Amino acid sequence: MSKTIIVSNRLPLQVQLNNNDLEITPSVGGLATGMKSVHKDGDGIWIGWSGLTEEELDASLEKKVDAAVAKENCAAVNLSQNDIDNFYYGFSNRTLWPLFHYFMEYTEFEKDFWESYKRVNQKFADVVIEHLEDGDKVWVHDYQLLLLPQLIKEKKPDTSIGFFLHIPFPSYEIFRTFPWREELLTGMLGADLLGFHTYDYERHFLSSIKRILRLDVKFNEIIYHDRIVKVDSFPMGIDYDKFHNAAKQHTELNSKDRSELQQRLDDHIQSSEDTKLILSIDRLDYTKGIPNRIRAFEYFLNKYPQFKEKVRLIMLSVPSRSNVPQYQLLKKETDELVGRVNGKFATVSWTPIWYFYRSMPFDNLIDLYTSADVALITPVRDGMNLVAKEYVATRTNKDGVLILSEMAGASKEMNEALIINPNNFEGIADAIKQALEMPKEEQVSRNTILQKRLERYSVEKWAMEFMKSLDATKNLGQVIVSKKLDNSIQQEMFSEFKQAKNKLILLDYDGTLSGFQDNPQNASPDAELLKLLDNINDLPNTDMVIISGRDKETFEKWFGLKDYSLITDHGVWLKKNDRKWEALERIKTEWMENIRPILETFVDRTPGTFIEEKKYSLAWHYRKADPELAQIRTIELNTVLTSLISNNDLSVLKGNKVIEIKSSSVNKGRAASRLLSAKDYDFIFTIGDDWTDEYMFEEVPEGSYTVKVGFKKTKAKYYVKDTKEVRNILSKFTEN
Ligand code: UDP
Repeated sequence: MSKTIIVSNRLPLQVQLNNNDLEITPSVGGLATGMKSVHKDGDGIWIGWSGLTEEELDASLEKKVDAAVAKENCAAVNLSQNDIDNFYYGFSNRTLWPLFHYFMEYTEFEKDFWESYKRVNQKFADVVIEHLEDGDKVWVHDYQLLLLPQLIKEKKPDTSIGFFLHIPFPSYEIFRTFPWREELLTGMLGADLLGFHTYDYERHFLSSIKRILRLDVKFNEIIYHDRIVKVDSFPMGIDYDKFHNAAKQHTELNSKDRSELQQRLDDHIQSSEDTKLILSIDRLDYTKGIPNRIRAFEYFLNKYPQFKEKVRLIMLSVPSRSNVPQYQLLKKETDELVGRVNGKFATVSWTPIWYFYRSMPFDNLIDLYTSADVALITPVRDGMNLVAKEYVATRTNKDGVLILSEMAGASKEMNEALIINPNNFEGIADAIKQALEMPKEEQVSRNTILQKRLERYSVEKWAMEFMKSLDATKNLGQVIVSKKLDNSIQQEMFSEFKQAKNKLILLDYDGTLSGFQDNPQNASPDAELLKLLDNINDLPNTDMVIISGRDKETFEKWFGLKDYSLITDHGVWLKKNDRKWEALERIKTEWMENIRPILETFVDRTPGTFIEEKKYSLAWHYRKADPELAQIRTIELNTVLTSLISNNDLSVLKGNKVIEIKSSSVNKGRAASRLLSAKDYDFIFTIGDDWTDEYMFEEVPEGSYTVKVGFKKTKAKYYVKDTKEVRNILSKFTEN
């Protein structure tokens, strides 16, 4: 039975060592809850680090850990202290975390960290592959494992792999500074589905894919070799019922069952009629905007002194990554700021900020959420922020006001909150005042909408939607592309080839025999290619023709000394083996004088583009241009040209990062049909990568082998991945 393998840095378990005894407690975090049904489905298994280092475990203990976690349907990846220092505290938390949260000044680009990150991702891959069976799916989580999808895909290409990033994906301008940016992106592209919390993160990611890897993106699908990778946003929810029901039960507690914390909160609430509590909860992390919040609260007390002695800010800061220097600095700064504000405003009966530096058990969190009139959540960057959602879920009477930073992913779906810019003190102070004075009916109407959404799109639903979308990626591309020219079809083809008497091999040049270069003049044939072509050309009863949009002068320069058959300029010129160039078409070129100036204005306005002048056509190349600008310009140019050329017998061809204008009476199909009528072939193989080759595919008879290079919409029957594969297949023609 097929299963889903979940992979995250940590297992959803707490494994503790007490005098050689193991204590295992399942964790109750949001992710664990969301993944419950995925994990339980079939023989689902969760792979991650147990929390104990290799140094803490001897061989017998390691076995015990393996057995204990296996009972919970988990498998442990063993990490050493060095791995934890370099991969986890190093690369994950001192490189990726700050960079992806726009803290460039905190980002450390350390080669040792990077090496460790690669090693540890490989360790994870090894464990995954050990457990992977045919038909299984894999869902990889978060920024610690960005390379893992590719490492799995390499070994198990047929496995469906999903990846979800729980933190923001930064803008291209930030991401481009990263020294190993290509590797990270290719690592992620091993997945079939990439999920982000918000459309903005998705958009940033796609922008980096287009600009850094220069891949083609169609809406939210990336064409990557012979696969389509889908990118989508899935805003993670919470276990709504758990929080809502806990809050309900909480209101029914009689006073003696109330926690000590609740009693202190009650004391405050009862101290005066119009007293209010403002709550903030977060890990002590520089992304959470804690100093901003305290300063804004201080500003609020100064600006609106009528709230002194009435309003209290309860700040729960959960210790986090305290061995990373920036976190230690933040702790110091926070302590000082709290001290300053409390010192400045406190009275005998009132301290403005109650500050807790610790984590709290679930019941106490519910005490806080249900007692607070306002939740003040001000991150400067936050992938999602679940606290905001949890606060709203616990408001069983639908009262309470959420003030939420627009920099948190959650703000995208929580429009009914008071949305603030965390850097704007005045804005925050005014929002606090507005929240404290908001009429009950307005609170209820805002929270009603918020709660409905949270209840509907819970964390379980989030996980289900992701899995549904991952399953659907199986069908991607099937409608638009041909069949892969796999080994069994190749065998059939070569056996037909051997038996045939008159054989034709039609080869496109750029993008087929040779990869693309920024400057087309640099794509001259290399020694390996010339050898390969020589061998094919020498095959008995075989006509090899290179058929290209290149001009005859270039081909003369490259292949002049060879006795290959060549067709150039999309079919204007033919050179048969050793004979002279003959014109297949007579065409006019006066139109060029009118079109050239138009292309020039596009070159002027689109950096990185240039015009290639051929004898019979003009080509505008945009391979090196900004891909997003180029996309706009190609639409624009197409519109301009279409209106101009309609009665000129010209056509506009969209090639691979090039737009070419040429006479419509010339194309590779017409040239191919001349060859076909001159001789009776019983085996035809034709291969090409772009739009102009489609004419060829259309022209050759049924039963021919028509092959497209790359994963694109085509009339060809088969496709191959890239030029490397083309050369590999061509060389097989010459074997035996
Ligand atoms: N939380 C907790 N113990 C605490 C305080 C908070 O378990 O003492 C939980 C809180 O309920 C929430 C999570 O920690 O589910 C914080 O998630 P969020 O997305 O807000 O921030 P992150 O820490 O993931 O950046």
